[in-house]
Order: sequence, then structure tokens, then C-alpha cells
Amino acid sequence: MRRTRRKPAAPGPHPAADLNPRPGRTVKVIIIGGVTGGASRAARLRRLDETVEILLVERGPYVSYANCGLPYHVGGVIEREASLLVATERTFREQFAIDVRTNCEAIAILTRTKTVELRDATTGEVTTEAYDKLVLSPGAASVRPPLPGIDLPGIFQVRTVPDARAIRAWIERGTAFLAGTNSYSGIQMARPTTRAVVVGGGFIGLEVVENLRHRGFDVTLFEMLDEVLAPLDREYARLVEGHLETHGVRLALGDRVAGFRQGPNDSLEVLTRSGKTYPADIVILALGVKPETGLARTANLEIGARGGIRVNEQMRTSDPDIFAVGDAVEVRDFVTGEWSLIALAGPANRQGRSAADVIAGRDSRFRGTQRTAVVGLFGAAAAWTGASEKTLKRLGDTDYEKVYLYPNSHAGYHPGAKMIGLKLLFRKSDGKVLGAQALSEDGPGVDKRISALAMAIQMGVTIDDLAEAELCYAPQFGSAKDPVNFAGMVARDVLNGDMPIAHWDAARNGFLLDVREPAELALESVPGATNIPLGQLRARLGELSREREIEVTCRSGQRAYYATRLLLQNGFKVRNLSGGMLSRAILLAEAPGFEKELV
Ligand SMILES: Cc1cc2nc3c(=O)[nH]c(=O)nc-3n(C[C@H](O)[C@H](O)[C@H](O)COP(=O)(O)OP(=O)(O)OC[C@H]3O[C@@H](n4cnc5c(N)ncnc54)[C@H](O)[C@@H]3O)c2cc1C
Repeated sequence: MRRTRRKPAAPGPHPAADLNPRPGRTVKVIIIGGVTGGASRAARLRRLDETVEILLVERGPYVSYANCGLPYHVGGVIEREASLLVATERTFREQFAIDVRTNCEAIAILTRTKTVELRDATTGEVTTEAYDKLVLSPGAASVRPPLPGIDLPGIFQVRTVPDARAIRAWIERGTAFLAGTNSYSGIQMARPTTRAVVVGGGFIGLEVVENLRHRGFDVTLFEMLDEVLAPLDREYARLVEGHLETHGVRLALGDRVAGFRQGPNDSLEVLTRSGKTYPADIVILALGVKPETGLARTANLEIGARGGIRVNEQMRTSDPDIFAVGDAVEVRDFVTGEWSLIALAGPANRQGRSAADVIAGRDSRFRGTQRTAVVGLFGAAAAWTGASEKTLKRLGDTDYEKVYLYPNSHAGYHPGAKMIGLKLLFRKSDGKVLGAQALSEDGPGVDKRISALAMAIQMGVTIDDLAEAELCYAPQFGSAKDPVNFAGMVARDVLNGDMPIAHWDAARNGFLLDVREPAELALESVPGATNIPLGQLRARLGELSREREIEVTCRSGQRAYYATRLLLQNGFKVRNLSGGMLSRAILLAEAPGFEKELV
């Protein structure tokens, strides 16, 4: 290993305010990690300051590539690898005058001398570079537990462009091999079904599942928890699972992978703790990520309890000259105030921008994260923002209420409208919006509503503001009363007492009144419920007791709302079962025996 010391940065004019340079010397900023957070920060810094010297070092072969597109490249939706390369070293050099070094790893930070040691991955040469400000954007490493057989050929992760390239090569090679035609040079007539195992039911695992199905694989998804997509509440996770199954995905939930071994004909076998064996021709690990903190530790930077680099709102670490952003850092959850690790591109990008602003002397602060995310599911989508109910419960927070609603994604009379399942969580005491989750076969419809609600949460709005929000409307895009307005109106009715609600999964002892039409009951009914169709209710009030609380249901909660208003104004004690039979069906899918358990 050869060690050389580069000359300190050449003298130059005074640049950015935060940099506080020695007069007459160009300030030098070194950025470590050249993808989402690093690349955005470098470009922003140049836009703010033409004089600062910027060095961007990246361990891998590419900078600024679209890692979010990798699962779709594996699936062939994004066919060309080059499409993923958003900007190259040349772009950075020519357009932004940024010195970019790829295949260059930062191996140590020496805070006393304000230098970084860099190792060239191709030659092994180690050089030392001085910095005035250092920014870390090293991302996170894929979790890869030391399981027996984990290094066998055919087991991959999806983190980098070379990872995706290796998977595609394996699939193409494997297709021929499994058909028994690897030595046959004629036309391959049949494309065999191949078996894939994806380990990990987070959003990247689910994207990989979809893309492997797209390529014709039989896919089994393993998740050690007994539900997929941990940020979702359980009843919504169950809906996602049902949707995956309808698209031919086999689910193995609540079982841990214990190891891997070679199977016959170059295949693999996945062994589980429960003693099962699953054959596979390819295995993709999507077990989550762990912040890359090795370098930060060489500088003795503070590491938080969750294992990420601790930063303040300006993205400054415990060393005032070192900033950190992206998957490697711990930031505050905007809603709960908890320190959190968030591996999402949006926050990484905004944090990079904030850090660049601060370095350039501007007062910029990262507001925290809300975990806003969306995942595509075979044309459908699930999305979430803010706190989930399970998070509020874990924190012992009881000052919240929830409503379930099922509006159309756009006007029902316009072709193509799909139902959106929407859950809204809000403060009982002041109506502040806390979180939302949505699912629909209309993916863009979900994205639009959760994005609007995410913005609302960041602005600290209440349910009244949702009810009053002015959103786009034409019949093919939405409704005059958009689902976001609708959610606010329903929540407002709950808080102001116009519509007291009950929940199917809470202890209930009311008299159950079903206001649907008899034909609907033939399809599905609730044991013990009394049926009075809404149209007959006024005439049949005498059949109801004023002593006992009445719980009203219908298909989605809408007719039950009309019934609730009618009954309340006639002196009855009444609650609307939120979301009606649709919510009940979701809860039944989640826990088939839940009604019995509550009795
Ligand atoms: C397959 C996949 C799909 C995703 N899809 C989405 C999505 O749809 N939506 C979303 O919001 N997020 C998505 N993400 C997450 C998102 O990509 C990350 O949150 C984001 O890239 C984090 O940015 P970052 O700058 O912290 O890290 P990265 O973008 O990962 O960049 C870190 C870089 O630092 C380099 N590095 C590390 N250590 C060193 C060192 N010592 N010296 C030099 N270089 C170093 C690494 O090689 C790496 O290239 C996805 C991630 C993956 C892997």
C-alpha cells in the first residue's frame, strides 16, 4: 500500500460564510458517498458557491445513480442499465467543477489534522486530503446475517448497479441452464418457470417480488415477522398480503431463514427455523439496512441509540466541521419526536440540500421525517405518512382517534374509478392530523392522497384544514369532495359529536343495527345484528330502545352516518361503526376470530 500526501488546497478567495476559512485560502469541502445525499449536496453547494473546492469520493464505480430504479431494472421494466445513471463523473466535472473520484474509499478521518485518508480501490494507493468541512453520506449497508451458506452462488442483494447486473446475468444464465439447453445452440422453445425466494417483506423486498413475478418466476416471500410492510398497521398489511397472493406470490410469514444449501442441478435450498425447506433457483436478500458508521467512528463522532450518526437540525455531527446526511444518520420523527433511522431517498436528498445550505452560510434546517413512502404492488399501491396506530400504541399515546373510509379514487360515474381504503389518525384533544395510510388498485390515486396528507402533516394542520383543503378536481382525477376533504369531514364529525364512532376491534356492547338492504345481507351479515334498512328507519324508530347504545353499520359507513344523525336527533344513544362492513372484512382477514375474542 503506497501512501502519499496531497498538497493542501491552493490559495484562493474567501467563499462561504460557515466555512470560516483562513484568509486567502480556498475552502475545501470533501463529500464522502456520491449517490443520493452526497451528489445532491455537492451540486447544491456548487450552485451556492463558485469558489469553494469540492471533492466527491465514492467507493463504488458510479456516482448519482438511481438506486430506487434497481428492482425495475432487475425486472426488465427499465431495460437499459445506462438509464439508471443519472449523472456521471464527467457531468459533475464539466457542469459543476467538482472533482469526483470513483472507486475511491475514505478509510479514516483524522479530526486533529482535519484530514481524510482515501484508498484507491484499483491501485490500493492511500492518499491524504485536507478538508475545511467534511460531509458524510455513506448510506447504509444491506443486512447480511452470517447464516450458513449465505455466500453460495445465486444469493444476491439489490443495493448497487453491479448487484442488479449480477442478478440479471444470473437469471439469463439460469434460464438456459434450467431448460437443459446451456450447451444447445438452437432456438430455445420453452422458457422454464424458475423459482425465486425473496427474504424480507419491506418495500424493497416487495418491489423485487413484483419484478421477479414480472419475469415469470414462481416467488416465495419470507418475512420473519408475521406481516409484511412493518410501517403499515396490521389490518392494512393483511390487505397487502392478500393482494400479493392474488398475484401468485407465496407467503411464508413468521418464519426465519436458518440457512442455505446447494440443491440439485445448481439450484439452492432455503432452510427455515421451523424445519421447512424451499427450493430456489435464485434468492434475493432484502433484510433491511444498517447505517454505515465505520468512518464516523474513526472520527469519534457521536452515534445515537439506534445506531446512526447523531446530527442536529443543520445536519451537523458532534464535530462542528463534519456534517452527515442520508441513511447513515438518526433524525427526529416529525410527529412523535423520536430519534429514527429512515432509509428513504426524499429525506436524504433534502438533508443533503440543508447541509449544503448551512455550509454556504444559509440558515437551513431539516424539519425531521414523517416516513412518507409509497410502494407499487402490481399496479396497485400502498402508502403511508406520519405515525401509524401501532407506533402511537407503542408510545402509550391514548390521545388519538382513527377513522376508516372507502371513497372512490375519482368520480364513481367516470370509468376506471377504484375504491381507496384510507385510514386517518388524529389527535382527540386538538384535531391535529397525526398519520394516514392508504391502499388501492388505483396506485396514482393513493400516491396523490398520501402526498397531500404528508404535506398537511408537515404543516401541522388539523382535520378542519383537511375538510377545507382546495384540491384539483375533474371527474377523471378526483371528486368535488376529494378523499382528503372527506377524511377531514368525517374526522370533524367525530370530534364535534355529530357522529360518535365505534370500532369493530374494540370492546363493544351496544345493540347492533344494520341499515343495509336485505339483498346485501344475503351476501354477508353480522351474527346478532338487527336489520332495518335506512329507508324504513324513520318509520320504525319504535322498535329501538333508548336505554341501550346502538351501534350502526352499513357497507362503508355512509348510510350508517345518515342513520346515526337521524337517531341522535331522535334522542337515541348511537355510534357509527367506522368503515362499516368493509372495515369488518379487513379485520376478519387480519384476525378471523376477532369478534368472538371480544365477546
Ligand atoms: C433497491 C432500492 C430501492 C429503493 N427504492 C426507494 C424508493 O422507491 N423510494 C425511496 O424513498 N427510497 C428508496 N430507496 C432508498 C434510497 O435509495 C436511500 O434512502 C438513499 O439512496 C440514501 O441516500 P444516501 O446518500 O444516504 O446513501 P446512498 O444513496 O446509498 O449512497 C451512499 C454511497 O456512499 C458510498 N460510500 C459508503 N462508504 C463510503 C466510503 N467510506 N468512502 C466512499 N464512499 C462510500 C457507497 O458506496 C454509496 O454509493 C431504495 C434503495 C434501494 C437500495
